[in-house]
Amino acid sequence: MSAKLILIVEDELAIRQMIAFGLRRAGFEVREAMDCREARQSLADQRPDLMLVDWMLPDMSGLELTRTVKRDRRTRELPVILLTARAEEGDKVTGLDSGADDYVTKPFSPRELVARIHAVLRRAGTGALDHIVEFDALRLDQQSERITVGGQTVPLGPTEYRMLEFFMTHPERVFSRDQLLDRLWGGNVYVEERTIDVHVRRLRKSLEKYGMDRLVQTVRGSGYRFSTKAQ
Ligand code: CA
Repeated sequence: MSAKLILIVEDELAIRQMIAFGLRRAGFEVREAMDCREARQSLADQRPDLMLVDWMLPDMSGLELTRTVKRDRRTRELPVILLTARAEEGDKVTGLDSGADDYVTKPFSPRELVARIHAVLRRAGTGALDHIVEFDALRLDQQSERITVGGQTVPLGPTEYRMLEFFMTHPERVFSRDQLLDRLWGGNVYVEERTIDVHVRRLRKSLEKYGMDRLVQTVRGSGYRFSTKAQ
């Protein structure tokens, strides 16, 4: 299985190089473009498996580029992750409306970005064979659907597994109970918001003896967040 190719569209050299370095280390192949014009040339030349697009670009906004790509029959299926700055956070919805598959807010860690890329590739059905996500000693293997700590399997119910898988592939973000219901139950089934708390409690209990329950954090008044940073 050959390495997945990621096209990075970012005009700031330092950020582009930092991302490229992190992605190469994670086993991806990388192509770089500094504006939309270069990105289009690169797309015509060789189709990547995923495109990372900075929102603010000199010739055209990353949002506009995403729209163009998603409107074109030949590139419609290409997964796109938008890179946004804090100031643009309020425009997130617009970002997703443009057809972007996900967005990552700057500043982000290479590890977070890699986790999000894996998640998007997986959803697109073109993910790498080996879906390993690690945080400290906690390891998620999406292939075998197993969670381990230091090689020991953590016994989890199916819902707790799905919940932890979701958290580990969307780290450092706060999700409301409503959003979690939507992402984990698909919004088709009638499930009370309290159900989320019950499963979070069970998940924490399973992680407790490994000292990993601290990663599943309650954000008062908002919901839950998976984070390796102390609260
Ligand atoms: Ca930029």
